[in-house]
Amino acid sequence: MLESQNITDIELQIKKYPNFLKENGKPKAVSLLSGGLDSSMATFLLKEDFEIYPLMIDYKQKSFKPELACVVNQIELYDYKELVIFESSIYKTLQMGLSSDHDDIDDKDAFTPARNIFFAVPAMIYAKYIGAKYVIRGTIQNDQSNKIIRDNNEIFWNKVTDISNYCVNDSIQFISPISSLSKRDVIVLGLDKKFDFSLTWSCFNAVVESGKVHEDYKPCGVCANCVERNYSFEVIGESDPAKSIRYKKETNFKYL
Ligand SMILES: [Zn+2]
Repeated sequence: MLESQNITDIELQIKKYPNFLKENGKPKAVSLLSGGLDSSMATFLLKEDFEIYPLMIDYKQKSFKPELACVVNQIELYDYKELVIFESSIYKTLQMGLSSDHDDIDDKDAFTPARNIFFAVPAMIYAKYIGAKYVIRGTIQNDQSNKIIRDNNEIFWNKVTDISNYCVNDSIQFISPISSLSKRDVIVLGLDKKFDFSLTWSCFNAVVESGKVHEDYKPCGVCANCVERNYSFEVIGESDPAKSIRYKKETNFKYL
């Protein structure tokens, strides 16, 4: 259960970013917001410090529609800027990783080659376009030891920050305030801060019910992400509010 000492320890591990001069308002940050637990919490934690410009990548992943539903609801609830989506069929055409037609169970199935550098490119371009110096991404401590998915850790994202100068003639920092936290700690923190976890989606696979692809989804319950998420809520002694995602809100978004 949630203990105040525990929360204090976790809050000490949240990464802080330079305190900006805010005469001209909050600085802008693009958020690579997937609707997943990590990118959603990273963005939520920084929403008081930055103007949040959400960017989704539609790479034809099986979970795109429930992810979109989560992002749309978060944007409305937390007052982020208009959603922008970058779309590509490359992984679908090549039947790779999370965009293949097959259910993905473990990280090996889910591995989508070069996915995060692929995400970083439109994020850099969009950041350059709107004059943002920061891109928020969801990286947590567990990702550091993942031997299969190696492109979502501090080492990788610091390198992306380094190459941004070469790519867009500006330093774009790719930041995650939760990169020192475990999944469990992220959930404890979110519950303490009243973050609405029912607006997040973690499953690799979207189970479509009754053939209504636009209305009802539920997590598969067996993929690596579902197992990790369920375990993390269980050890805290809380129940996961995201039993199913209902796509109920209309939204405005534009494609890059
Ligand atoms: Zn799943």
